[in-house]
Amino acid sequence: MKQDLKNFTQEQLREIFKTGGFAHYRAKQIFAWIYKRRVEDFESMTDLSKDAREFLKKNFFVSQLELQNKETSRDGTEKFLFGLDDGSAIETVLIPEGTRHTLCISSQVGCKFKCTFCMSGQGGLKRNLEVSEIINQYLYVVDLISPKEITNIVFMGVGEPLDNFENVLKAIKILMNSSGVSFVKRRICISTCGLIPEIKKLIELNLGVKLSISLHSADEDIRSKIMPVNKKYPLGELLPTLKAFSKKERYPVTFEYVLIKDLNTSKGDAIKLAKLLSGVRSKLNLIIYNASFLKYRPPPKEQIDIFTAELKKRGVFFTLRKSKGQDISAACGQLRAHWQKGA
Ligand code: SAH
Repeated sequence: MKQDLKNFTQEQLREIFKTGGFAHYRAKQIFAWIYKRRVEDFESMTDLSKDAREFLKKNFFVSQLELQNKETSRDGTEKFLFGLDDGSAIETVLIPEGTRHTLCISSQVGCKFKCTFCMSGQGGLKRNLEVSEIINQYLYVVDLISPKEITNIVFMGVGEPLDNFENVLKAIKILMNSSGVSFVKRRICISTCGLIPEIKKLIELNLGVKLSISLHSADEDIRSKIMPVNKKYPLGELLPTLKAFSKKERYPVTFEYVLIKDLNTSKGDAIKLAKLLSGVRSKLNLIIYNASFLKYRPPPKEQIDIFTAELKKRGVFFTLRKSKGQDISAACGQLRAHWQKGA
């Protein structure tokens, strides 16, 4: 059976070519065609020998995503809905901000972590995305906006990227590969609800990716209530792991903290947060909750003021923002993989 070429890293292709009796540098040439020149038709890969092209045609195909729908927000944010072969769909969001173009990528169809405030997990997990399905989100959008470039990639769409570790890792290796896209280190960010074993694997790999933690509470009990993953991987164990990450990568960890009415925005919550952050090199992003049909609401201005005043008093730096793309449900946590056509 033919395989999707975009599922393979360059090292893997090298091995496949070697085994097929071809020179290993063919893999590098193919990477340049597909990821740099954006040519996907084997016949047009003119510096490959005829035999090599035949080998490719016989064993591989090159997939593309099918766009089902695209919406543009008043603030310029664009949301793409892509249909997959099995009838599932995934969402990708492009966020333009001045000269920056950030692409928010999905890593799974659905999510199994069931954070109570988040739409993405409401239907559970259907499946992991293939490497090619991750890469193709990037390739589709970069082709579309060319000659403008995507400057940042964040794994903040649907799914938990560290729960699809192998495929996300391969996709990152492909994106960073210097014969292809050559995406800049530190401009790729993995966002996680806090899977400790996989963060430890990242520490070992030392890839140069940024790490963002969906924190949302510095209190073990509150966090366990809204993020069940905290029962398995509590803050008490997560924090030392994050310290080790920022030490090894020589880079601060980012904490995302969604402000939710009457839940995590009291003065006491701010004090706990300041304490937690004091031990780790980090950045803090406060995000005002996006309301949906779930029971949670954004806090009133007074709650936000009390919370942020306490942080300032304690010398904690932060950014405070509303998510972009709210009018098209492209804002943080509002993405939802459709696990059936038309669902
Ligand atoms: N599973 C990963 C990647 C998802 S990123 C993670 O947890 O980090 C999506 C981000 O949006 C997460 O930080 C999530 O907690 C946040 N989020 C979920 N629902 C939200 C909402 N309604 N408003 C604002 N942020 C939300």
